[in-house]
Amino acid sequence: MNDAMTCRDLVELVTDYLEETIGATDRARFEQHLQGCEQCSIYLSQMRLTIRLTGRLTEETISEEAADELLHAFRSWKQRA
Ligand SMILES: [Zn+2]
Repeated sequence: MNDAMTCRDLVELVTDYLEETIGATDRARFEQHLQGCEQCSIYLSQMRLTIRLTGRLTEETISEEAADELLHAFRSWKQRA
C-alpha cells in the first residue's frame, strides 16, 4: 500500500490542503485517508476552526509542538489498536 497516506503525511499536507495549494493527486489521497481515519478528521476540523477564529493560517496556528503532540497521540493510539 505505497499510495496510502499516513497520518504524518496528512499533518504535513494539511496547510496545503486548507490553502488549496495541494496537488490533485495528494488531495485525493488526503481525502481518502480522512474517510478512514477519525483522528485526522478531528485534526482537520480543529484546523478549520482555528482558521475561522484567526481568519488565516499562520506559523503560530500550527506550531511544531502541536504537531508533535498530535503525532505522539497517533502513535499511542495505533499501538493500542
Ligand atoms: Zn490519520
